[in-house]
Amino acid sequence: MLIGDYHTHTLKNHGKGTILDNAKIAYKKGLSFVGICDHGPALPFGLAVKREEIFLDSLREAKNIDFIQVLVGVEANILDLQGNLDVSNNVLSQLDFVAVGFHYPLNYRNINWELLKAIYTGKTEKLTDALILALEKHSRVHFVTHPMYRFPLEIERLAEICATMGVALELNAKHFHKGLFDPLKLDKRVQFVVNSDAHTPFDVGEISNLLPVLDKIPDNRLLNYRHS
Ligand SMILES: [Zn+2]
Ligand SMILES: [Zn+2]
Repeated sequence: MLIGDYHTHTLKNHGKGTILDNAKIAYKKGLSFVGICDHGPALPFGLAVKREEIFLDSLREAKNIDFIQVLVGVEANILDLQGNLDVSNNVLSQLDFVAVGFHYPLNYRNINWELLKAIYTGKTEKLTDALILALEKHSRVHFVTHPMYRFPLEIERLAEICATMGVALELNAKHFHKGLFDPLKLDKRVQFVVNSDAHTPFDVGEISNLLPVLDKIPDNRLLNYRHS
């Protein structure tokens, strides 16, 4: 049973519902909380929020909802090989949670050409380093979004670092395909977070395609899912 869904999008980027819409569906589906996790501002216009201050507006909006806990976070983008993000530490420090990862398309604002070169030439070691640096530089990162999806990484090394730092790896219902990586082959200490990545309110909490994978993972390695 999914306890709560950290990763849902709203109209503030290219999702289809409001924070309230997502909260209502999450409540109806019996979740204990819902996370609002809109895209950081570096993604091309239309996909992302326009300004990082929008996340603070979301925080204020979420406070007015009392029938379910609404957490406001961000799906932040890595801008360069040094692990810098498209959301400032000032805003990150105010959010309820922070998710970090690589995301297509790559015509980000402010994306560094060295990172682009590493992506296009398949330098998985460099991409993994950049991701690890992003975790080290921003102490409040809670999970890595859809690892391995379209951006190959040294997933075993990443999992070891995440385990020591207490950062979870996401099993993303929208982007976790069979064979992307095998959660059971990674460091036994690393935890997983199970999310829908819903872009419509209807999909909030929808993780049924992950059930065959979740069946093999013990409860103590899942942050927000319990076998019952
Ligand atoms: Zn999206
Ligand atoms: Zn997302």
